[in-house]
Amino acid sequence: MQSKQERNGGDALQDLCARVRRFVDEVAIPAESPAIARDVAALDRCVARLRVQAREAGLYTPQLPEAWGGLGLGWRSLAQVLEEAGRGFLGPAALNCAAPDQPNMLTLLRLGNPEQQERFLAPLVQGAQRACFAMTEPAPGAGSDPSMLRTRAERRGARWVLNGHKQFISGGVGADFALVLARAESGVTLFLVPADTPGYRVVRDIGMVTGYQIGGHAEIVLQDCEVGGDAVLGEPGHGLEYAQLRLEPARLSHCMRYIGRARRALETAQAYVTQRESFGSRLADLQQIQAMVADSHIDLHASRLMTLDCAGRMDEGLSVKQHSAMAKVFVSEAVNRVADRAVQMMGASGLSDDTPVSMVWQEMRPFRIYDGANELHRATLARRLLA
Ligand SMILES: Cc1cc2nc3c(=O)[nH]c(=O)nc-3n(C[C@H](O)[C@H](O)[C@H](O)COP(=O)(O)OP(=O)(O)OC[C@H]3O[C@@H](n4cnc5c(N)ncnc54)[C@H](O)[C@@H]3O)c2cc1C
Repeated sequence: MQSKQERNGGDALQDLCARVRRFVDEVAIPAESPAIARDVAALDRCVARLRVQAREAGLYTPQLPEAWGGLGLGWRSLAQVLEEAGRGFLGPAALNCAAPDQPNMLTLLRLGNPEQQERFLAPLVQGAQRACFAMTEPAPGAGSDPSMLRTRAERRGARWVLNGHKQFISGGVGADFALVLARAESGVTLFLVPADTPGYRVVRDIGMVTGYQIGGHAEIVLQDCEVGGDAVLGEPGHGLEYAQLRLEPARLSHCMRYIGRARRALETAQAYVTQRESFGSRLADLQQIQAMVADSHIDLHASRLMTLDCAGRMDEGLSVKQHSAMAKVFVSEAVNRVADRAVQMMGASGLSDDTPVSMVWQEMRPFRIYDGANELHRATLARRLLA
């Protein structure tokens, strides 16, 4: 189904993108500060304030269907909106279209029954609660290989008891509930676990190179954590399939936001090289700098095209197993190159807290590892293509 913006044609979408750009420039970027970048409590307070303004501006939850208060955009349109939102570190969270809750909402929309949607999805949409998605475990548990999952779920009458250990869980600190993957007798199953369930414990916020991650990256222990039969999301035994279903749009959405973020680093570096001089010429007039600018635009353009192509396939309901993996590998490496060149063009300023470039550079690096490490995607793609 087409959204109002899409029914009104390209002009309405361009107008929406311009409004998001203005919001990011005038509201979200001025709220950025290195002092809060890794302070989970301060980030929550800041984002709560920004969301009030995003609602007033009519830009809140653009990814959701209109029935859930969103803008009902298709994936191709969303790609452009998320790129604009992603220029700001706080833009996606302000619009409530940041990871991990954007894919968490999508998962609840797809798999949740009406009671689960009312209890868990509605507060996420309103921004009254936060959630996290807990799959990764310390060795010898699941990392790149989800079949190594060791968190257990055992039946106790009509209830379930979960035991396990999770790490690097984005948004886990202060999350109101977690979507937890655990191994049951019937196979890997996805559970909704409220954070105040006895036995659910956030051990720590694992320090991470990234900044501005709402809820940090948590280590979580589940010890005799008992939940009701209604905690199962979807069907028991289908957890790994659901994790894949969540990951495909999740990694493409990361591509969309990070194209915006890398564009911001490039814009900042371009402004620098047009002003800074060295040995009697502007940096922008030096061929080696010009090559870095050109290569970065080529990387962003190719990233956009791959992302839009995959988004178009999703709009048509086609499988994107292969295309989302190719887009993830290419875009994650391209935005790393763009951010790295931006640092290089700016010298020490590019590594300082005085400009956003160093944080963009730090943020881009993990994208080659999460949502499936690039080596894993290459191995899977090659296996499929050679079969
Ligand atoms: C910033 C960040 C946020 C994250 N958020 C979440 C979250 O919200 N929820 C969650 O569950 N997890 C999260 N993770 C964890 C992430 O999903 C894992 O880091 C990822 O799946 C890789 O697992 P691992 O770190 O255990 O690496 P390992 O499995 O130990 O792999 C290490 C390296 O080995 C290589 N490798 C592994 N397997 C292969 C293979 N088959 N072929 C070739 N090379 C291979 C890759 O280079 C890989 O980087 C996050 C990680 C980061 C960095």
